[in-house]
Amino acid sequence: VIAGRRIEIRGTVQGVGFRPWVVRLARELGVAGRVRNDAGGVTVEAFGAEGVLESFTRRLRREPPAGADVSDLVWQPLRAEAPAEFAVAPSEQAAERRVAIPPDLAICEACLAELGDPRDRRFGYPFVNCTHCGPRFTIALDVPYDRAATTMAPFRMCERCAREYGEPADRRFHAQPNACPTCGPRLRAEDPAGGAVPGDPIAAAAAALAAGRIVAVKGLGGFHLACDATSEAAVALLRARKRRDAKPFAVMARTLAEAERIAWLGADERRLLASPAAPIVLARRRSGARLAGGVAPESPLVGLLLAYTPLHHLLCAAAGRPLVMTSANLAGEPIACREEDVRARLAGVPDVVLTHDRAIVGPCEDSVARVIGGAPVVMRRSRGWVPRPVPLARPVRRPVLGCGGDFKNAVCLAVGALAYPGPHVGDLDAVEAGEALLESARRLERLVGVRAEVVAHDLHPAFRSAALARGLPAAHHVGVQHHHAHVASAMAEHGLLGPVLGVAYDGTGWGPDGTAWGGEVLLADLDGFERVATWRPVALPGGERAIREVWRAALAALDDAFAGEPPLGALALFAGVAAPRLAAIRRLCDADVACPRARGVGRWFDVFGALGLAMQESRFEGEVATAWSNVADPAARGAYPVAIDFGRAPWEIDPRPALRAAVDDVRRGDGAPAIAARFHRGVVRATIDVVRAAAGRHGRPPVVLTGGCFQNPWLAEGVAEGLAPGFAVHRHRDVPPGDGGIALGQVLVADARTRACA
Ligand code: ZN
Ligand code: ZN
Ligand code: FE
Repeated sequence: VIAGRRIEIRGTVQGVGFRPWVVRLARELGVAGRVRNDAGGVTVEAFGAEGVLESFTRRLRREPPAGADVSDLVWQPLRAEAPAEFAVAPSEQAAERRVAIPPDLAICEACLAELGDPRDRRFGYPFVNCTHCGPRFTIALDVPYDRAATTMAPFRMCERCAREYGEPADRRFHAQPNACPTCGPRLRAEDPAGGAVPGDPIAAAAAALAAGRIVAVKGLGGFHLACDATSEAAVALLRARKRRDAKPFAVMARTLAEAERIAWLGADERRLLASPAAPIVLARRRSGARLAGGVAPESPLVGLLLAYTPLHHLLCAAAGRPLVMTSANLAGEPIACREEDVRARLAGVPDVVLTHDRAIVGPCEDSVARVIGGAPVVMRRSRGWVPRPVPLARPVRRPVLGCGGDFKNAVCLAVGALAYPGPHVGDLDAVEAGEALLESARRLERLVGVRAEVVAHDLHPAFRSAALARGLPAAHHVGVQHHHAHVASAMAEHGLLGPVLGVAYDGTGWGPDGTAWGGEVLLADLDGFERVATWRPVALPGGERAIREVWRAALAALDDAFAGEPPLGALALFAGVAAPRLAAIRRLCDADVACPRARGVGRWFDVFGALGLAMQESRFEGEVATAWSNVADPAARGAYPVAIDFGRAPWEIDPRPALRAAVDDVRRGDGAPAIAARFHRGVVRATIDVVRAAAGRHGRPPVVLTGGCFQNPWLAEGVAEGLAPGFAVHRHRDVPPGDGGIALGQVLVADARTRACA
């Protein structure tokens, strides 16, 4: 007996080889019918015996192609028909444009095999791709996602490519960037002035790399600057030219085996590295690894990624060594996507430019992820994730745009039950970065097919992101408190509408009282929050300068902890600081001039890290705090006491007793690894105590952990494990805990606050 089913599949199911896979599966099982793309995803009409349809449906749900993400699959019975076979039906031309463009996908096994097969017509072709892999978001000009609406439109497919493209059972059926050496994009090598470098481009680039030179490489979402990661001199040259002092560089390996020779990788790290998203994965470096120390100075970690385009594979193979791959930009500027940008903005940086004629329209940097407590956490959500939406527990009433903050900026656009976080824009200190923010927002609006009616921004009065947001035409502009946005973003990821207890720990964020917040425990829903607890502030003599020159903040904190008489003479941190300098800084504090107070947990990490590591300066954001967490030794015993003052409103978490204990340990000659471990445990315990005390009064709501500090495995694992027995604890997974994730939270808060408006 023949039965019928209409199966509707939602999620990222277009442009990822879903229909050819459905066709193959149907033909394998002897199911007849049709499949088509529609506005919401993919719809299948299937006919066959009931048992066969059941296993067909089950396999549709369970075995989708690697790049697909099935968020929903529902079916209903359909009047039986008896079509001769299973075919692809023409796409529905729906008025609705809300079609999911997939993220860019790393090269698949099948294409990699062709790339290396001398008998294949795409042997050595740097642009081989199929429905399972290749560029997507970064080449999409418009929706629906179709070749004509991509930067592949100018390339006319040759006969053989066109045949693949039109054959439903082919791996390249409707692979929009499908190409071959006859008809597709071409690689070329240029000198810095744009002149052609003769000979094979890959060989020219590889020779330059072997000679210690810098090569700009056009990737999926922009240019990289590459150099030999095993050469100290090459890495130093790149740092000097890029004007980047100390911040770690990412390293690209050609294979998982090569990556394993550089760092210790667990199963989760290997899976992440080899996933279609192919992010940079932070891992612990092996001591004997063949890697220049200058790649990640003084860090036990290294950011690794695997070659994810055919061009990377060819280049890595020809170079025969791991390569530094860092975004091609100068400090603070957005990533370069066009040859002109490389020539103008990066003049003097690369020696050779390896580029091609397939244009990039959507800048998209490499994503960064780390495995924490057995679960991958995205720290920078960009290539490979964007524009995949986050499903919302409650649909937004009107389209909302969140403009993020001024650091690690990324925007987010929500419409209906989906929120689309945009790619990483970066820090907004350069003028170009502000323009990049607006362009990112415009691009999301175009691809999702809506105009935002509500625009959300951070409350910080000096934030460029907020000024830009207020300048956008919209019916409503909503300012959202920074830590409330962090908490709401974690809520969104876990489908929570509140109330929750949100632990938001980060460096700094503007509070509605006009002071800097940063270590906040909030009882929150999407509309608003009650501030349950905060951290004792750290004075920052000289303001922002004290964030860079961390010894200033440490001095102020020590004065606070020791009632003005800390034993500075016994502390290596102050060894090189002249007495008049100390006195001048102290006068700032005493007179309360240019000495703002900040409650950021990150500032306390700076203070303890500066003390324990005798580091006077933080050369880039988070340097001291990260080093402090990396140095902590899990085998060291003990925890420092952190006091909680329940007599205040909000409660105040006071690390002064911990600071006194740490000073004692420094004087006793205990090493940084033990002191750091005791500090981390003290912070974890105090946090757990505060959450327990708050939960007792508020009926044990779920707990979310958010803010940049929860990229620190000690904190994230320690607090989550400590609360686990009695609490539902949620950490970030697919949305960054840091400021790269706040736009999602802004969107939900702004929606909640404007729902009642006409
Ligand atoms: Zn492929
Ligand atoms: Zn072709
Ligand atoms: Fe933040």
